[in-house]
Amino acid sequence: MQEDPEARISRQFRREAKKQLKLVSNPEIESYVDQVGRQILSVMGPQSFDYRFFVVDESELNAFSVPGGSIYVYRGLLEQAKSTGELAGVLGHEIIHAKNHHMARLSGPDPISLLGLLGMILAGGGPGAQAAGALGQALAATRQFSYSRQLELEADTLGVRYMAQAGYDPRAALSFLKALDQQRALSPADVPTYLLTHPLTQDRVANVELIIRSLNVERPRSEGPDPLKRMQVILRLERHDEDSVIGEYEKLVSQYPDNAEARHLLAVAQQFQGKSAPARGNYEKARALDPRRPGIDRDMGRLYSQIGEFQLAHEAFERALRAAPREALNFLFLGELLERENNLRDAANAYLSASNLSPLAPLPPYRLGAVYGKMNRLGDGYYYLGRSMLLQDEDEKAMADFERAIKILGPASPRGQVIKEEIEALKARGR
Ligand SMILES: [Zn+2]
Repeated sequence: MQEDPEARISRQFRREAKKQLKLVSNPEIESYVDQVGRQILSVMGPQSFDYRFFVVDESELNAFSVPGGSIYVYRGLLEQAKSTGELAGVLGHEIIHAKNHHMARLSGPDPISLLGLLGMILAGGGPGAQAAGALGQALAATRQFSYSRQLELEADTLGVRYMAQAGYDPRAALSFLKALDQQRALSPADVPTYLLTHPLTQDRVANVELIIRSLNVERPRSEGPDPLKRMQVILRLERHDEDSVIGEYEKLVSQYPDNAEARHLLAVAQQFQGKSAPARGNYEKARALDPRRPGIDRDMGRLYSQIGEFQLAHEAFERALRAAPREALNFLFLGELLERENNLRDAANAYLSASNLSPLAPLPPYRLGAVYGKMNRLGDGYYYLGRSMLLQDEDEKAMADFERAIKILGPASPRGQVIKEEIEALKARGR
């Protein structure tokens, strides 16, 4: 089967982007952005390629998409967003740029046309210096790339409709555009990149206002508690800003001792710093105040697991899974707990569930491979490590793992057949 040309551009681009951009690699953050994206995709019907979402570890307020469905959101955008709905607005917009082939529709005689650059990559084939140079240029160009007014309006119109259909408040898209505009008015010298790459004109705002009116949104939907603040705290912790996070939330907790969110987020920061005892106290108080806090049962499960309170950890994961039985992270971290307890068989099952629920995430098959390794099932172990490498666009490593796996399992075994197909597909698509 031939690989879709845009899917191929995307894959090549991702390989280069991994080398040139620092990406946030935290399972909570990655899964959060991925889930918002997939929620929007779920109302859009069949897709011609796999969408992938990444968070670039830079404070810029920016986002961009590449033909073939690779979408990059900057940390700065997550830090400055005021609701998950605002992120959904940006992702809806970027998904439409990719889905409706906006870059191809823009291509013309323009000598620095991005599609031209991406085309060079395809024509270049091998990993030669020229192809690598073109990738670098394409990467730089994509970050600064701006579409025509007509395509921007189309991305807004359809993006807002789909985000609303997916259950997000479409007015968040408008509030985001307005906040951008205000920021530009306040400090004109400091125009957010997102405005350069997606020019904001009064007609963009007017257009989104019109769509929202046509959608007949009356009052905010009950979306449940917004997970965004927890993500913003995790991002700050990842940047080793934990002292200021702890200071800020300790102050909040002393002012508002019954604020469940403040206690929960303080606990997250304390856990990150290894202060298990106060973290535990704050989690337990936060949960008593509001058991519906997003992520709290999973966070508590991980803490109890770390301090060896395995019974409490299992109870917390059971609650987490009852509330969100299709949440891959609940299974991923349950798997970690089971590994700690040396219950490798159940750990493997938990990782397998995580992998089935989130089939494009590379971490679950990686953990699964490692557990099979511990269980001395090396053929299965190499197979899942190969799957994980494939999802990380590490084709050469994937090939090596698959070849090791098939040598152990034999080509006639059921899994051997599957691996043979994986190897064929890898060979067919080349580089
Ligand atoms: Zn745009």
